[in-house]
Amino acid sequence: MSGTHSDARISRQVRRLETLLEERGLVTGGALDEAIDAFLNGASPANGARVVARAWVDEAFRTRLLDDANSAVAELGYASGGVQPQRLRVVANTDRVHNVIVCTLCSCYPLGLLGPSPSWYKSEAYRSRVVREPRAVLAEFGLNLPDSTAITVWDSTSESRYMVLPLRPAGTKGLDEAALAALVSRNALIGTAAQ
Ligand code: FE
Repeated sequence: MSGTHSDARISRQVRRLETLLEERGLVTGGALDEAIDAFLNGASPANGARVVARAWVDEAFRTRLLDDANSAVAELGYASGGVQPQRLRVVANTDRVHNVIVCTLCSCYPLGLLGPSPSWYKSEAYRSRVVREPRAVLAEFGLNLPDSTAITVWDSTSESRYMVLPLRPAGTKGLDEAALAALVSRNALIGTAAQ
């Protein structure tokens, strides 16, 4: 069989599978697009960590990242959003404000930069509680913030995604970008860990 014919046949089969999954309510078209996009882009929290490390060492990049994250991550070769454009916003932690992300409606998440989302992110408990009692939820993750640190919760939508820019840990002045990136965990990019 020629390549073109088998490609067309596979496309039809994939399309049929997509339709069945959507009809049975197992996935939405958007979620499927997102998963395919994430797969094609090599979705991994290592991507988000690389963005963070660059922002830690390059002040001008940090400014661009906080101003227009879609363009800034594209500089490092990362696309945000697949078929549907999504606005990426990076929110920076400071000594006074800690950020955490959630999708209260479903499970929107910047897959390409953070990798597949953890099951707790999609859980009803996390989605409802992190908005009502963020300090208690973060404490359960082992992140005990001083009362002087305010917590801002960012609720994702189908059009917007968030990623947290954690604080650079103390005592890392001599580290290069790759070593810094290795310090950044997926949970820090969500905001449920400090680093
Ligand atoms: Fe969602």
